[in-house]
Amino acid sequence: MSDRHRHVEALARIVLDRLDATEPRSVRRLRLAQVDAIARLLRLGAEGTNALASETGVVVIVEECRDDYLRGLDADGGLAALRIDWEEVVLRVSLRLAQERSVAACRCSRCGAPTVEVTYRGRRRRPPGRHFRRIGMTDLYRARRCSGCGLVQPPHG
Ligand SMILES: [Zn+2]
Repeated sequence: MSDRHRHVEALARIVLDRLDATEPRSVRRLRLAQVDAIARLLRLGAEGTNALASETGVVVIVEECRDDYLRGLDADGGLAALRIDWEEVVLRVSLRLAQERSVAACRCSRCGAPTVEVTYRGRRRRPPGRHFRRIGMTDLYRARRCSGCGLVQPPHG
């Protein structure tokens, strides 16, 4: 991992921790939605993204987190961290949020263990459990089974 990449990761982690610690919950959700929206606009190269990022306070959050981060660095590290654009940090934060969401979606709602997708071929029989969903017009059914407690849950999508 390059130095630059390491700094982007570390900054993103600080921003994520700060977003996580935001209270109340409604403000936290708003902030997360703003970061995601700005990241999406950045990826599209949309006009006015900078202004929106400033107005919503997203840039301020990144810069405050950068200040915190700089305190723990030496001069060389500090210079490298200062050269990173806030846009890069926001994109990284948004990516990590998406990854966290997809991991959470694959967890068992009862015990938190990972779930695996299971399919069942119906052959005119009903699937063994009400959470199985038919795949289109086929005779295949799909669900997720917990690798820990065995709980069967509805599939994604
Ligand atoms: Zn489970």
